[in-house]
Amino acid sequence: MAESPLKNFKSKDNALIWHPYAVPDLYAESIPIVKALGAHLFDEQNNKIIDAISSWWTTLHGHSNPHIGNSIVNQQKKLDHVIFSGFTHEPAIRLAEKLIQLLPENQKKVFYSDNGSTAVEVALKMALQSQYINGGTRRKIIAFKNAYHGDTFGAMSVSGRGLFTAPFEKLLFEVDFIDAPIPGLEESSCKQLEQLLFAEEKPAAFIFEPILQGTAGMVMHDASVLSKIIKMCKANNVITIADEVLVGFGRTGKFFASDYLTEKADIFCLSKGLTGGSMALGVTTCCQKIYDSFHQGEQHVFFHGHSYTGNPICCAAALASLEIFDENPVFEQISAIEKCHQQFVGKIMMHPKIKSIRTIGTILAIELVNTENTSYSNSLRKIAYDYFLSKGILLRPLGNIIYLMPPYCIEQVDLQYIYHHIELFLQKMDNAI
Ligand code: PMP
Repeated sequence: MAESPLKNFKSKDNALIWHPYAVPDLYAESIPIVKALGAHLFDEQNNKIIDAISSWWTTLHGHSNPHIGNSIVNQQKKLDHVIFSGFTHEPAIRLAEKLIQLLPENQKKVFYSDNGSTAVEVALKMALQSQYINGGTRRKIIAFKNAYHGDTFGAMSVSGRGLFTAPFEKLLFEVDFIDAPIPGLEESSCKQLEQLLFAEEKPAAFIFEPILQGTAGMVMHDASVLSKIIKMCKANNVITIADEVLVGFGRTGKFFASDYLTEKADIFCLSKGLTGGSMALGVTTCCQKIYDSFHQGEQHVFFHGHSYTGNPICCAAALASLEIFDENPVFEQISAIEKCHQQFVGKIMMHPKIKSIRTIGTILAIELVNTENTSYSNSLRKIAYDYFLSKGILLRPLGNIIYLMPPYCIEQVDLQYIYHHIELFLQKMDNAI
């Protein structure tokens, strides 16, 4: 009998492709997806899966958005790519202009790369080279405990040490980690920072995920304490870097999570939602002072640039995504999701299987009671992942933390369907005891 095309598809994938974060017990076989529309993914049998995590936190306005799609096609016909050193083009200039309008006022220059990790690498190198050019001896970086900033070596170095970084531990540069200002740790966070600021070896930079630490388990910060931390850094000439790779473009209910803060970082990192989730693009922006430390001669050139830096098609996709914000009631969609999450929190917060529950903007995180430690490899992760997938919902729990981060176009009926299955899952956990 002839092999079904599906079987062929899967076995070829198994034979040829090395997937990221492909934990064998959890994602033993990748599911072939042939189509994606709005908040839905479709497999070969046309089964619908609700993309409740926006495909690794990227999709904003829904999959295969026609406006973004048309902009990509039109740009490809005009100018697909050109070296970005010594050359420039309209989409890059227009996007830079737009981002500078949207970002806090202190942001003046845009540097392009191609993903979140490279946006972070660029930020770290900008900060360190700027300190170096200015003749200082500052090299140390401060970051929050359990931070996650990406998978390249610099980004791993400033991320919390754990499962992901263990094989490379000895090769990562030394970083001073302080408590993040999560409820109960606000004071210790400030105290630990103070000690570092007044230590003999002065720090060069401080990098942080503003308001929400995603991979740490959707952990939320107190905005006023975070503002105080940024202020303390600035007063002590420590360059501040806001990693908005996840939280940018409306996820937390404001355009940038830094919009909750009274103090603004010197450098911003953007990616994920930048193109509405359609193309790979990274951006690092900085204030005039950082930029001015460079370009004072050959030895002050910023030696960083990727082949696809400033790719016109990616820039056109990002511009199209930002046009959707301008021309459609996107923030009404965001607040509708926010309201639904809050109502659902009110309904289930007292459930005995819930340890804690939190929501900000379009993000809802439910920490389940469990007998194991709260880690990424917690066994509840597989049970929950399989359960929701069997109901046509893509949720990818962080250990014992189930979270939702849907595209902004998700419909009420899909949200209610997900909530309903969360309740059934909690009931299932109850019955298991
Ligand atoms: N920073 C943050 C806050 C992130 O959440 C991520 C990815 N989850 C990154 C950086 C790295 O982005 P990328 O996966 O595009 O390299």
